[in-house]
Amino acid sequence: MRNDDTINRKEARFSPLGKKAASVLACGLMAALFAFLPGCGAGQTAGRSTGQDAQVGGGSTSADDAAAVDTFSATDFVMDTVLQETIYGSKDLTGDIQPLLEKLEKEKLSWREADSEAAQINSRCQNGETVTMSEDFYRWVEVSLDLAEKSGGAFDPTIGNLTRLWNIEGENPVVPPQAEIDEVLSHVGYENISVEEKDKTISMAADCTLDLGAVGKGIACDVVRDYLRGQEEVSGAVIAVGGSILTWGSKPDGSDWSVAIQDPEGEDGSYMGVLQLAGTACVSTSGDYEKYFEQDGKRYHHILDPADGYPSESGLSSVTVVCPDAGEWKEYAGLLSDGLSTACFVLGEERGRELLEQYGMEGVFIDKEKNVTVTDGLTETFSLLSGEYRIAG
Ligand code: ADP
Ligand code: MG
Repeated sequence: MRNDDTINRKEARFSPLGKKAASVLACGLMAALFAFLPGCGAGQTAGRSTGQDAQVGGGSTSADDAAAVDTFSATDFVMDTVLQETIYGSKDLTGDIQPLLEKLEKEKLSWREADSEAAQINSRCQNGETVTMSEDFYRWVEVSLDLAEKSGGAFDPTIGNLTRLWNIEGENPVVPPQAEIDEVLSHVGYENISVEEKDKTISMAADCTLDLGAVGKGIACDVVRDYLRGQEEVSGAVIAVGGSILTWGSKPDGSDWSVAIQDPEGEDGSYMGVLQLAGTACVSTSGDYEKYFEQDGKRYHHILDPADGYPSESGLSSVTVVCPDAGEWKEYAGLLSDGLSTACFVLGEERGRELLEQYGMEGVFIDKEKNVTVTDGLTETFSLLSGEYRIAG
């Protein structure tokens, strides 16, 4: 029998981690999780390894139960972040996921790829055209706009140009001049986008740009889930795309998935708590420790408040949102968990909780004083791992 504590610590590897920059993130995760891999140089593509992990596997010796279930693990780099996979089953499908997500990025979401659907929509809409979208892209835009509306604009899929102005992940980021923030902000606003369901069309006001990058990793989880649904050889999986994690199916021994939450004040790879989740779900974390720079002693992080164009200051240091594989939003659990974690971070704990209630989703809010607020549906599921934090209320 393994004790729970061992399981928690071992599976803390499925942490929704992030770090200051993608390359640092890659190094941090790689160092924490796959210490045997070669060192991480800036911009290096993460190495790939596959193999069986006896400790995480079922450990059963019975011929007719988990004996045919192997564990396959891999680490890769995709969508500017680390992709970490553990797949339980009779066939190693880890090699399929990275190409699937690279295709998603290249053909659909990337604003850098001139031929991607997102880039095409933007350039044609700038010319005043009404553009017909693919079915899946239409749904992603529709759900994003729904979230923008329900969050009162705290999540805004037209914020891309402001993100690029701040350039927080760039070489030498500095606080942009107020006049430039004002100018870019004047074109930000989800109300500038109109979609039409019947023909799946979109049109936008001049100078507005649509950017689904903020929910890209969540969409990636949805895409991987859809792929795994068709794979009979797979009985369970945990797929982490940066700060968004998909748990799918079940573990060979039937125990819950453990998803650890990064300690916002701690080293990369140190955890303040853990969620025990059954079955399929999507979990995303947004935190101010993920990507930031400092200027004049002040920290400027990557989650922007569309109300004033500056990094949001809602008193939170991270928000984790869990979306189940059920209900009205089942097909978009990844997208929503990703977008909701960003929206809740901007809104702060009280309004963030109200937003989660509107969607019937659950979350863990951590404030800068290390108070932790857990929504009702997660009270049995979440446990603290660090004595520095306290459950509020
Ligand atoms: P990431 O998706 O980069 O891992 P988050 O899920 O925390 O990180 O989302 C933050 C990202 O979303 C930023 O990098 C930025 O591009 C974008 N973003 C920042 N603020 C907002 C906002 N208020 N609404 C929508 N997108 C945002
Ligand atoms: Mg995101």
